Amino acid sequence: MSKKYKGKTCAYCGDAVSDTADHVFAREFFLESDRDQLPKAPACESCNRRKADLEHYATALLPFGDRHAAAASNLTTMVPKRLQKNAPLRREIAEGMRQVMTREGASRSPSLVIPVDTARIADLFRLIARGLVWCEFKTVLASDTVVELTWLNAALARHFEDEIFAPHGDYVVTRRLGNDTVVYQGLQTSDCDQASVWRIAMYGGLWFAAEAGGPDAIASTIGVFTRPRLAPRAEPSGT
Ligand SMILES: [Zn+2]
Repeated sequence: MSKKYKGKTCAYCGDAVSDTADHVFAREFFLESDRDQLPKAPACESCNRRKADLEHYATALLPFGDRHAAAASNLTTMVPKRLQKNAPLRREIAEGMRQVMTREGASRSPSLVIPVDTARIADLFRLIARGLVWCEFKTVLASDTVVELTWLNAALARHFEDEIFAPHGDYVVTRRLGNDTVVYQGLQTSDCDQASVWRIAMYGGLWFAAEAGGPDAIASTIGVFTRPRLAPRAEPSGT
């Protein structure tokens, strides 16, 4: 284990001492031929375990939501093995599967919707954002730094692009991992290293149904903001 990742502050909790190098995006999201040079961050044992649990869920489910070749191949080669080992998850998916109409531009096409526990996916992406802040800007987010996640439909994604990233082009990092299995952009503010914004697309943008059984689905990338917790207002001194 390289000293780069051991004995540091854990990038995920900003508190404990790290004892392992964690892949910020789990290797299992990628095809085996696409796993070179994936970003890593220092993690403590407890965060590593918690993140692995979330990844176990996400790597089985997210390829269902894709429009990307790697996800399709992932779905047929690796996901069945993952689901084989997880009977409750298999049941959850089978019971929730249904046909809905999704809209992409003017065309409508039937697509499969499976129930996704978005709270668990959000938890995972909050950790991923913390890992990315460490990888890209060598900043450890404090344990109380606020990490807010937002699902970006096409309009919001455009807003991110036009209003946030385009005006700061020189400072924006853009990375493409594993043949675009993951594409992300990040920007750290110059006056506060705890403040950053991210746009993360997996498998070409996941589809999340806007609401269960609803007529429209949203094409989604994930937006994340990090910011310092606001300091409590100082009490007036004196009596
Ligand atoms: Zn930790």
